[in-house]
Amino acid sequence: MTTELEQQIAAAQEAVTKQGDTVRSLKASAKEGKAEKSEVDAAIQKLAELKLALESKQKEFEKVTGKVSSQSKEALRAALAGVLERRMFYIPSFKIYGSVAGFYDYGPPGCAIKQNMTQVWRNHFVLEENMLEVECPAVTPEVVLKASGHVDRFTDFMVTDAVTGECFRADHLLEGHLEALLEDKKNPVSPEKAKEIRDLLAGVGELKADTMGAALQAYDVRAPGTGNAISAPFAFNLMFKTSIGPKGDMVGYLRPETAQGIFVNFRDLLYYNGGKLPFAAAQIGNSYRNEISPRAGLLRVREFTQAEIEHFVNGDDKRHPKFPLVADLRPLLYSRELQMGEEKKAAPMSLGEAVSRGIIANETLAYFIGRTWLFFCKIGVNPARMRFRQHLQHEMAHYATDCWDGEVETTYGWVECVGLADRSAYDLKAHSGMSKIDLTAFEKFPEPRMEEVVKVVPNNKELGAAFKKDQKAVKEALEALDSNAALDVKAKLESAGVATIATCDGQQFEVKASMVEIKKVTEKVTGKTYTPSVIEPSFGIGRIMYCMFEHCYYTREGDETRAVMGFKPVVAPTKATVFPLVQKPALNDLAARLSRELTAAGLSNLIDTTGNTIGKRYARTDEIGVPFAVTVDFQSVEGDGSVTLRERDSMTQVRVPAGEVAGVIRDLVDDRTTWEAVSGKYPAQKASADDE
Ligand code: AMP
Repeated sequence: MTTELEQQIAAAQEAVTKQGDTVRSLKASAKEGKAEKSEVDAAIQKLAELKLALESKQKEFEKVTGKVSSQSKEALRAALAGVLERRMFYIPSFKIYGSVAGFYDYGPPGCAIKQNMTQVWRNHFVLEENMLEVECPAVTPEVVLKASGHVDRFTDFMVTDAVTGECFRADHLLEGHLEALLEDKKNPVSPEKAKEIRDLLAGVGELKADTMGAALQAYDVRAPGTGNAISAPFAFNLMFKTSIGPKGDMVGYLRPETAQGIFVNFRDLLYYNGGKLPFAAAQIGNSYRNEISPRAGLLRVREFTQAEIEHFVNGDDKRHPKFPLVADLRPLLYSRELQMGEEKKAAPMSLGEAVSRGIIANETLAYFIGRTWLFFCKIGVNPARMRFRQHLQHEMAHYATDCWDGEVETTYGWVECVGLADRSAYDLKAHSGMSKIDLTAFEKFPEPRMEEVVKVVPNNKELGAAFKKDQKAVKEALEALDSNAALDVKAKLESAGVATIATCDGQQFEVKASMVEIKKVTEKVTGKTYTPSVIEPSFGIGRIMYCMFEHCYYTREGDETRAVMGFKPVVAPTKATVFPLVQKPALNDLAARLSRELTAAGLSNLIDTTGNTIGKRYARTDEIGVPFAVTVDFQSVEGDGSVTLRERDSMTQVRVPAGEVAGVIRDLVDDRTTWEAVSGKYPAQKASADDE
C-alpha cells in the first residue's frame, strides 16, 4: 500500500515538474508574441491543480504511515531538485539516449561551484600544509590494485530478486527495512524490539555474508517493488575492468580511489622532500566504482571526484606540531561508545579532550578532523548538522588503528562525505612487498646511540648449495626479518636445527642452522629505518556539493516559490550581477564598465539587461545563489556616481562609489570584510517596493 502510494507521489511530483517547465516556456513564448495569454493562464491553472493533487497524495501518505517529517523531507528534496535541474547545476548524463544510472553532467553553475570548492580545498589543505600534489592516471595496471587488496577485497554484498534477477545492495536493503520498522507508527514495535533493531542498525557495516544473510532472513526482507524473495548475499567487486594496449593481454582497472597513485610514488616524493618526514601528498581526480545501486543523485555515483591526502608519519610519533591550533574546536563527535550506548547521539567535544581521553587515537588524526570541520564550515555546511562518526571496531580494516567518517545530515539521513583513517604502515608495506622496492624512511637520531641490534648474516655458500635458483629469494627473506622475527628464527634453529622461512611470493623454505648466523650485537646507531604510517583524509567532492546544496537552500519568507541558494560567496558560481535600472545608454555604459572591472578583479559576474523589474531579476539570480547585486541608476550617472550594492540573504542595500564596488566585493568574497562592516561604512539604500 505505502509503496503504491510512494509511486503515486513520485508520478504526481513528476507531473508538477513537467507542468512547471511548460508554464515557463509558454511564458517565454508569450513574451515573444508566440503564445496567447489565455494559453499561459490555462497552463498555470493546470499547474495549481497538479500541485493540489500532489499535496493530497502526500497527506494521504502521512495519514497511512504517520511519516510527517520524511514527507516534508521529500517535499524539500523535490523542490531543491527542481532548482538544481532547471538551473542546470547537474543533470543525468547521456540524457537524449535515456541516461545511465550513476553518471551526471555538471552544467555551468555546477562546474563553477565544483571548481571553486576544489580551489578552497587546495588552499585550505595543500597550501596550508605545504602538501605535495600529484596527478596520476585513472587507468591502473592490475598489479597495483592486487597489491593494495582491491582486486581481492573491494566488494559489496549484493542480493538479487529471486524472480526478476534485479540487483540490490544487501546492507541498503536491510537498513531501509529496519528504519521503516522503527518509523512505522501504525504498527509500532515493542521497546525491546526497537532496541534490538537499533543495535543491529548500528552494526550493519560490520556484518559478514553469513550474518547479513541471517539478518535478512530473520526480518523477512524482500525485493523492493515486487515483494519477491531475495537470494543469499554474495560479494560483488566494484571495480571497472579494462585491458591496456592493443593486444588486450594486460589487465587494468579504472582506479576506485586516487590514493594508490600517491603510495606508488612514495619513494620519489620522499626524495623530493629531502628525505624528511612527516610530509603529506595530495591528489584531486576522478575515481570509478561500479556501484550496485547508484542512487540519490550525486550521493552515490559511478564516477566521482575525490580529493585525497596521504600524510606520512613515523608510527612511533603521531603528534602534530599544529594540533594546538585546532585543539579547542568542538565538533560533534559520535564515538564508538556513543554509538553503542542508549541514546545513539553525537555530542560536541573539544579535540584536545578527545585526544587526551584516547577517544581519537592520535593528534595527527584529530588535527585533520579539525581542519576538515573548518573546511566544511568555510564552504557553507551547517556545523550543527555535521558530525564525525568513529568506525566500530570490526568496521575497520584489520590494519587500521582508528577511523572517523565526516558525515553531514541531509534529507537522505547522515551522509558520509569524508573518511579519515589511520591506516598504519599497511599500504607502503603492501606495495613494497609486491614491487620489491624499498619504501622505508630513515630517521636520523640527534646524537648517535649505542644500541643492541639483531644482525642476520646469511651464509651464501650454504644457501646456494641448498636452494640453487631460489637462493636470492631466501637470502632476501632472511635479511628482511625484523628483530623479533629474527630472534624467533634463531630460537627455532637452536632448538630444532631448522626453521621455516616464507619468501615474499609466499613460498616456504626450510633453513638449517649452518645457513645463517643470527646474533645480538651492540653497535653505534645513527638512526632508524622504518616504514611510515599513513593518515588518510579522503573527500568526495560531489557528495559534499550535494550536502552543501541542501544546507544552503531556502525560500523567501512568505513566498514558498522564491527559492534562494544561499551559497557562501567563496563557492558561489557567480559572485555578482550588474543591473542597469532602465535601458538607457549612459546606464548601460556604466554597467558594462563595472562588469569589466569585476572581471579584472577575478570576480565572475553577469550583466542583466533583460528589462525585467529589478525584483524579477533578483529572483532569477537568487536561484543560482549570486550573493551580490550592483544596480546602476540615475544617481550613478547624473548624481554622486554611486551605485547600489545589495546582499542576497539580508536583502539590504548600500550605496558605494562606482569605482570602489569591485574592491568591496572582492574583499567580501575573500572574507576580508563582512556585510555588517560594509553596511556600517556606506550609507544604506532603502529598497523600493518593486525591488523584492
Ligand atoms: P571511501 O574510499 O569509500 O571511504 O570513500 C571516500 C569518499 O569518497 C567518501 O567519503 C565519499 O565522499 C566519496 N565516495 C565514495 N563512494 C562514492 C560514490 N559512489 N559516489 C560519490 N561519492 C563517493
